Amino acid sequence: MDLNTLYRTVIMDHYKNPKNKGLKNSDPYHMVHLNNPSCGDDLKVEILVKDGIVQDVRHDGRGCSICLSSASVMSELLKGKTVEEAERLIQKFYGMVKGEEQPDEELLQEAVAYQGVRDFPARIKCATLAWKCVEKAIDEVEK
Ligand code: ZN
Repeated sequence: MDLNTLYRTVIMDHYKNPKNKGLKNSDPYHMVHLNNPSCGDDLKVEILVKDGIVQDVRHDGRGCSICLSSASVMSELLKGKTVEEAERLIQKFYGMVKGEEQPDEELLQEAVAYQGVRDFPARIKCATLAWKCVEKAIDEVEK
């Protein structure tokens, strides 16, 4: 199996069997809703932050396989991280999909599957939508 096939498999697995899908819609959770009109992606992400730790990340929405699978991968990666680590990982992910940084597999784990997006500028918004949601949610919670 070559690397591109492996990455495609990661993306399709998370698309078909998303982790942490479904919103809690309850009080300690903070929700951010964003969309990407160029593709029709529409996503809600909820976070629960306590004691400086991202305790839980939930997501739900409609969109393409890149967008929805990326929400699942993001939720798995950021759950249990400190707010500072989460913010750093979000920036690392942006750097990778924009082609500004080499993929850091140790930090980004399965999220390195989206490195190929750098060659498809129209899909960068799909890959980053969930990360924009969680970035905004952390900002708002931390204020
Ligand atoms: Zn999309």
